[in-house]
Amino acid sequence: MADPRGFINIPRKEGGNRPISERVDDYGEVEQTLNQEDRVLQASRCMDCGIPFCHWACPVGSKIPEWQDAVYKGEWKLASEILHSTNSFPEFTGRICPNPCEKSCVLAIHKEAVTIRENEASIVEKAFKEGYVQPNIPAKRTGKKVAVVGSGPAGMSAADLLNQAGHTVTLFEKDDAIGGLLRYGIPDFKLNKKVIDRRLAIFEKEGIIFKTSTAVGQDITGEELLKDFDAVVLTIGAMKPRDLPVEGRELSGVHFAMDFLKQQNKVNRGEQFTNGERLIATGKNVLVIGGGDTGSDCIGTSIRQKAKSVTQIEILPKPPKERADGNPWPYWPTVLKTSTSHEEGCERRWSLNTKRFIGEEGKLKQVELVEVEWTKDENGQWKMNEKPETAEVIDVELVLLSMGFVSPVHEGIVNEFGLDLDGRGNIKIDGNYQTSKDKVFAAGDASNGASLVVTAIAKGREAAEKVHEFLS
Ligand SMILES: Cc1cc2nc3c(=O)[nH]c(=O)nc-3n(C[C@H](O)[C@H](O)[C@H](O)COP(=O)(O)OP(=O)(O)OC[C@H]3O[C@@H](n4cnc5c(N)ncnc54)[C@H](O)[C@@H]3O)c2cc1C
Repeated sequence: MADPRGFINIPRKEGGNRPISERVDDYGEVEQTLNQEDRVLQASRCMDCGIPFCHWACPVGSKIPEWQDAVYKGEWKLASEILHSTNSFPEFTGRICPNPCEKSCVLAIHKEAVTIRENEASIVEKAFKEGYVQPNIPAKRTGKKVAVVGSGPAGMSAADLLNQAGHTVTLFEKDDAIGGLLRYGIPDFKLNKKVIDRRLAIFEKEGIIFKTSTAVGQDITGEELLKDFDAVVLTIGAMKPRDLPVEGRELSGVHFAMDFLKQQNKVNRGEQFTNGERLIATGKNVLVIGGGDTGSDCIGTSIRQKAKSVTQIEILPKPPKERADGNPWPYWPTVLKTSTSHEEGCERRWSLNTKRFIGEEGKLKQVELVEVEWTKDENGQWKMNEKPETAEVIDVELVLLSMGFVSPVHEGIVNEFGLDLDGRGNIKIDGNYQTSKDKVFAAGDASNGASLVVTAIAKGREAAEKVHEFLS
């Protein structure tokens, strides 16, 4: 255990964020970090509880008390080894995980939780700096070949484990770069893309083969893969966005969030778009529809593009500031979340439905909204009711649809293989991550539905173990 009195004597301290006035002028990471002395003090707050609920809440089962103890003792290499033993990418989760671990920390029952996410990021950054993270080239190859399709966190973690097990892994990606939503969804101000490239350089040395700009089911068929590989793992994400088919949806100026975010991430990499192609918030009143993480990323991006105003609306009621009675510790708290993008200046409104988009000459000019309230019907099901005489029209030139994702895209490989789907349209898998097609496995958002980076990493790793068993 770290310092037995650490949690009594040391207050929680965070690295904090760069000043708003500075950070809104660039796409650099917002979050700062503590110095090493403070970091060790933060690690000393971990109580090494008999039952570490942080570990229970973490999808990858991070051994948090163990690596906090190692940090406290200054054994950073050991801390990095413990961290990497359950997670291929602590540098991603250390930056962008919504840290369910901290929500379940025993200290969080009545005090401020132990600093976990930021400590994780510090360990892995030190590990890279000190050269503790080195390519680990498998000593023996099994002669088996695995195709992993889709290079998000699920695909990359599956590829990592299967490669380490000695199989020859090819990671196929339809986009021009590896990373999935880490690369082209999540903005640079949350995750600098050099962090992905640094890890990929190691993977390349370890022998993982990358095939970018290759859509499986289009550029190469699934059947071809099955001929060439001993197993295929589908980690294609849940990329079908939820649409809003109301009057005026076809107007220019109404776009899916991912089209907007992806383009800005590409621009940051040096890609150029013509004026006609560019989706840009500069000088516009922006309406972000959807109150989740994707919406929040649209806000931060719009602010950096110098939008005239940014408003975010959500159809559900405003969540409470504190846990409600039916939402106790150690479960995930359904409470109001304020992201760094929200802090940068946007209006947030709740219980609003979108009635129609209004345009002139094909261009979006206004949006009609109406207030709603939620009641339960006789079967206990939630029902949305519009409040009479609450309709309003607001001026808007850019709408970003951020209402989540429905399922994986079925056109292409899912249809070609004729895979069974679950009730929500995700790829159906059994307890061994096996799909309804022989030799074909699936993991991550593709089989789970849209979730979190840490869940995708966990599922990718679990699937890799099952594929390894299958191949062995
Ligand atoms: C804007 C945004 C912000 C988010 N922010 C956070 C956050 O802060 N924290 C967090 O924990 N989670 C966040 N998430 C969720 C998280 O990014 C996802 O849950 C996670 O990336 C899912 O991982 P995955 O590997 O299953 O799929 P993805 O990351 O979606 O990767 C799937 C990959 O498969 C490729 N692909 C699809 N079909 C084919 C094909 N036929 N052939 C070849 N390649 C194919 C795609 O191009 C893509 O690269 C965010 C999501 C979005 C959209």
